[in-house]
Amino acid sequence: MHAMVLQKLNTALEWTELPDRHPGPGEIRVKISACGVCRTDLHVVDGELPNPQVPIVPGHEIVGRIDLLGADVEGLTLGERVGIPWLGHTCGVCPYCMEHRENLCDRPLFTGYTRDGGFATAVIADARFAFPLGEVGTDVALAPLLCAGLIGWRSLVIAGAGKNIGLYGFGAAAHIIAQVAKWQGRSVFAFTRPSDGTTQAFARSLGAAWAGGAAEIPPEPLDAAIIFAPAGDLVPLALKAVRKGGRVVCAGIHMSDIPRLPYHLLWEERQLVSVANLTRQDGLDFLNMVPQMHIVTKTTSYPLRQANQALADLRAGQFEGAAVLVP
Ligand SMILES: [Zn+2]
Ligand SMILES: [Zn+2]
Repeated sequence: MHAMVLQKLNTALEWTELPDRHPGPGEIRVKISACGVCRTDLHVVDGELPNPQVPIVPGHEIVGRIDLLGADVEGLTLGERVGIPWLGHTCGVCPYCMEHRENLCDRPLFTGYTRDGGFATAVIADARFAFPLGEVGTDVALAPLLCAGLIGWRSLVIAGAGKNIGLYGFGAAAHIIAQVAKWQGRSVFAFTRPSDGTTQAFARSLGAAWAGGAAEIPPEPLDAAIIFAPAGDLVPLALKAVRKGGRVVCAGIHMSDIPRLPYHLLWEERQLVSVANLTRQDGLDFLNMVPQMHIVTKTTSYPLRQANQALADLRAGQFEGAAVLVP
């Protein structure tokens, strides 16, 4: 097999030939057909996450077909199309696992961060954390759903049932969640970098009721806001835009420092919360509804060997929607 390997933090990924691996008990081997590129991959490469492990193969929005089944794998078949998400393993016995909050597991493994991921031609995965994807939709179109979609979904659920939803940072996750929120009958308010007319037009094309710069006050107060961009400066702006009792959800795994803010922005029972990882139930809830929601993912495909270019383009905001690597 081949993979784009991060040998050392803050360096380019290297095209590497690796020995073919065989799945152990409870594991599957997946021949990869597409893997989305997520902002978290940038945080991995940049060493912005705690306890980085190198060498590592990044990538946690994997779509492919099972080409080997390890012993004791149940409910999956050879040749089946599956998705492999960020949550790659949980311990099953810690207090968080025991109370159905496995997203907070004390001893987890994360795909593309603490176990090898999908910037490769094949991956070994814990079978319990693979989602059957069925046959509707192309591999490339489905890949961004595995993290941008799933984490976005969990963020939207945690944002509550309010009608007016603000999305700060209109990249891969927001472009999916805007469509989900619209499908649910909500109004989406999209916040981008100031004067980024292209992305604001993109948001409106996906049904956003309004799009503007991050520092603007929307025409209606927000019931909740989700911050997808990794910029702490957005927290006081989002708190300012939500109504009394509203909630601001920070959806990213990493964010720059939040500036000092006057207490009155939090006053009147506004809430500031974060979302971490996903549970398998989140994945099932979301993916079961995907066929009805008719989400159209906007993707830019790159050959696997051009993973560094895809990461650079993501960093520079060179495309709308999501980048997807194709082996
Ligand atoms: Zn656990
Ligand atoms: Zn991700």
